Amino acid sequence: MQKQFTQAKLELVQGDITKAEIDAIVNAANEKLIGGGGVDGAIRRAGGDAVVKACDVIRAQQGGCPTGKAVITTGGNLPAQYIIHTVGPIWQGGNAGEAALLASCYKESLQLAAENEVKSIAFPSISTGVYGYPTKNAASVALETIRDLAESNAMIPELIQFVLFDDATYSCYADALSDI
Ligand code: ADP
Repeated sequence: MQKQFTQAKLELVQGDITKAEIDAIVNAANEKLIGGGGVDGAIRRAGGDAVVKACDVIRAQQGGCPTGKAVITTGGNLPAQYIIHTVGPIWQGGNAGEAALLASCYKESLQLAAENEVKSIAFPSISTGVYGYPTKNAASVALETIRDLAESNAMIPELIQFVLFDDATYSCYADALSDI
């Protein structure tokens, strides 16, 4: 499923983001940039030592990455040249600024991508695994944030993909894309 906006094409696919043939993939990381499970574990395993070392350097320089922000590293052994690591909010019921922090993850990741001349980027469903963000709500925040950027004068990649791991997550994003 896809939709064309003024500045970018948005595409939903189902699959494993570590296999994406794309300029950059986004990782749902944690603040310490230390290997977790879920998509983070899969990306680190596939990216290999170069990715782990690059995260170690960032941690030594700036202590990690705060929630809502993003950092960029090599893609190591991945088909993607870069990994943009962003830290989604942990769901706490919805009144702790989660939506603004999640929107910030998408904005910061796309800005960092544009600064590095990334033309195509793939996101997973940030925060909806271990971090517990309800997928339906997260999908609306993600797609509305990207739509707003893609309809503005912001510099962003021309192809923005979501690589969604399971049927239920794909359905939530497909419904949200139909609604916007
Ligand atoms: P968070 O800690 O931000 O919640 P998780 O990794 O626990 O991150 O989950 C985020 C989403 O990533 C979930 O929908 C999960 O199913 C999905 N996911 C897990 N592995 C992969 C993968 N290899 N490719 C794409 N998505 C994945």
